[in-house]
Amino acid sequence: MKNLMLEIISGKRVTKEEALELFGYESEDLFLASSKIRKKYKGNKIKVCSIINAKSGECSENCKFCAQSTFNKTDVKVYPLVDTEKIKEVSTRALENVGCFGIVSSGNSLNDEEISKLCEMFKTHKKVSHLGVSIGKISDETFLKLKEAGIKKMHHNLETSENFYPNICSTHSYQERVDTLKRAKKFGFELCSGGLFGMGESLKDRIDLAFTLKELGSDSVPMNFFMPIKGTALAHLPTMMPIEILKTIAVFRIILQNPDIMICGGRELHLRDIQSWIFQAGANGMMTGGYLTTNGRDIATDKQMIKDLGLELEIE
Ligand code: SF4
Repeated sequence: MKNLMLEIISGKRVTKEEALELFGYESEDLFLASSKIRKKYKGNKIKVCSIINAKSGECSENCKFCAQSTFNKTDVKVYPLVDTEKIKEVSTRALENVGCFGIVSSGNSLNDEEISKLCEMFKTHKKVSHLGVSIGKISDETFLKLKEAGIKKMHHNLETSENFYPNICSTHSYQERVDTLKRAKKFGFELCSGGLFGMGESLKDRIDLAFTLKELGSDSVPMNFFMPIKGTALAHLPTMMPIEILKTIAVFRIILQNPDIMICGGRELHLRDIQSWIFQAGANGMMTGGYLTTNGRDIATDKQMIKDLGLELEIE
């Protein structure tokens, strides 16, 4: 085993240059280090979350990977904000089996009426502290309303590096996304921010994203792996190889150290029979039950996988 790997196992923090070097290492060595770091911070506990697509389609933004953008011609379902009592019912049921539930809406932001409806519901939700919201751009006033309503976690992905971002979206800037996260942190929210991999970005872009998330203090890092969706501008791209996905997870664990690393979109499609390797690679969590516009796996199968590995489902 190379010296750098032995140093990482002994607690060394890597530089960007060293992190890039890790992609060339044998996966066995890489996973030995990344799984040790996972165990150091997370023990045997595995977190599982699920989401509702609370408002779908007709988004004014031009994210090239997204089925919900009006710039992409897809057959995604289009509907306004789901009745908040329905959201409450679905989330309450889901939280019997998962530790965190995300309410995700399409579009650049929600309007005042939509925010008020959600906040009224949050105030009566018995498990509000287990809810997270992903509602795009947020004003200071809305941050305050959400806080008062009991929301603790804010989800807002950076998607990729600042350098690569103009290749996937031009209707809003990377800096706007960073600012939203910084303001969320200032208001005392836990941050849930990660990315989507396999959109043509370089390995260096992935490393840059990991370091940016580390600097911003993201508490939870969702990792999604690009799934080509018919009608989107990136539909022609090839999918990632499973080993590349696992190595990317391992490098993120080695860079980030303590934050939760949650494996989300693309897990079932790309990893197939080796989905359980995500924990060996360093992840300590996953999303279950489907994604925004694509299907996933049911919670019972995922719970069985965790049990079979001798790991423990954490429901906070
Ligand atoms: S990723 Fe979000 S902001 Fe971008 S097009 Fe899709 S719904 Fe809109």
